[in-house]
Amino acid sequence: MRETGRVFDGAAAYDKAMSIDASSMTDTSSPVNPPAASGIDDLVARLRTTFDAGITKPYAWRIRQLKALRALLLENTPEIEGALIADLKKNPAEAQLTEIGFVLAEIENTLTNLKRWLRPKHVPTPLLIAPASATTVREPLGVVLVIAPWNYPVQLLLVPVIGALAAGNALVAKPSELAPKTSAVFARLFARYFDTRAVAVVEGGVPETTEVLKQRFDHIFYTGNGRVGRIVMQAAAEHLTPVTLELGGKSPVYVDDTVDLSIVAHRVAWAKFMNAGQTCVAPDYLLATPAVAAALEPLLVEVIAEFYGADPATSDSYGRIINDSQFTRLTGLLEGETVVTGGDSDARTRYLAPTVLHDVSRDAAIMAQEIFGPILPIVTVDSLNDAIGHINAGDKPLALYVFSNSKAVRRRFITGTSSGALAFGVPAAHLLVQGLPFGGVGASGMGAYHGERSIDVFSHEKAVLSKILKPDTFNLVYPPFTQKKDAFIRGFLRKLI
Ligand code: NAD
Repeated sequence: MRETGRVFDGAAAYDKAMSIDASSMTDTSSPVNPPAASGIDDLVARLRTTFDAGITKPYAWRIRQLKALRALLLENTPEIEGALIADLKKNPAEAQLTEIGFVLAEIENTLTNLKRWLRPKHVPTPLLIAPASATTVREPLGVVLVIAPWNYPVQLLLVPVIGALAAGNALVAKPSELAPKTSAVFARLFARYFDTRAVAVVEGGVPETTEVLKQRFDHIFYTGNGRVGRIVMQAAAEHLTPVTLELGGKSPVYVDDTVDLSIVAHRVAWAKFMNAGQTCVAPDYLLATPAVAAALEPLLVEVIAEFYGADPATSDSYGRIINDSQFTRLTGLLEGETVVTGGDSDARTRYLAPTVLHDVSRDAAIMAQEIFGPILPIVTVDSLNDAIGHINAGDKPLALYVFSNSKAVRRRFITGTSSGALAFGVPAAHLLVQGLPFGGVGASGMGAYHGERSIDVFSHEKAVLSKILKPDTFNLVYPPFTQKKDAFIRGFLRKLI
């Protein structure tokens, strides 16, 4: 932020407002020698000792961790890309766009703006309180837990970690056991790059996460499905721990006849088949009138061939389904449906072709759950009202995508629907806008992050009021409440509050 007259040192102001003596805390030979961790209890206790000693609070410590994360990514890119290939057959270019490069951009944005974001903010005080000053200070919460899923195992682990560290917390990161190579890489690299007094990885599945969730954290940030989201929230309730739940659900696309359908086909296919459809903000299904659907279907067939060749099984740009149970669930959803293109699969390699389904019934099994795979059902509607009615009858989506050149149609979606995000003309790209909140509403989640909002998530905005003792202007409101004081409070004073 540009300051007039003098250079404002937001970092120093922050440290001062927080009474942080940064010089005594940034030394890594700090006298704090927490016990070595033998179990989850010990680990969390150790992190809490670190936090309580104030080690994570100074601005300089936070910046060092962010730079360490940047170095971790830049110095180990081939290994991370290799892990993503092993776990998801994710193409390295796609990994740069949606995982590694995405996280690097978030780090740069945070490094550039953190001083400004942390600067104590003055708020006006009412005359009744004057003379006084009031500010808000963002203080770290303590020891936080980040639980990540398997589908973007780099981005969805590290972007919350950036927020947690930039806000000055100690943390436990729990990668998904379903992306085991990526989980192992980060468990090793975190220990090498971060301040291990304050940052730890716990690997494992349900038993380990269940153990971790018994601990008291100061915030839990969970990304994954709603069933586990409920388990996380119940565990958090035991300790009155606040939660952010980044969940999923069915994100619809509505297309009308006012737009260039070839571009629609490109954008929908790009967002749908990226990461083999295993993207929380992927278009789940498409709503269109029969005429629009009939025009769009052959274009989708062409675009899929253009993206992935005549046989997508041989394409380097196309991913695989994460595990056998997801593969079996997805292929089961094809039963009884009319395939426009795709539909073929190979259980051995967990290949499922990019698939488009024709005229799917609203009662079909595939419409009763989040698809989370490379299958795009086209559902026909009579009208805009029918489409909006269908969307509003279901859970609030994580994202809703609309292709229409009609201002009236766009307005109807803005005012007549509710979703985590609403995007016109392009699916899944709102994540790239760092100033936009990323999160769901209702069944698709609670809380939002990215950029400055991540600092909000992992901070407490503390109200700080400071009033001098003399003159004691408060003697006007002290008891005993004489008639004179009563009249004064009802009259003049009430106008000043
Ligand atoms: P997952 O199976 O990897 O689970 C997520 C995390 O929860 C893992 O770390 C796992 O170990 C833990 N977990 C699983 N079962 C648990 C239990 N019983 N108790 C405690 N912890 C448990 O991932 P997933 O849930 O299959 O992820 C896919 C879902 O996540 C989809 O619904 C998708 O839409 C959603 N998602 C949302 C976002 C978002 O940003 N909103 C991003 C990606 C995925």
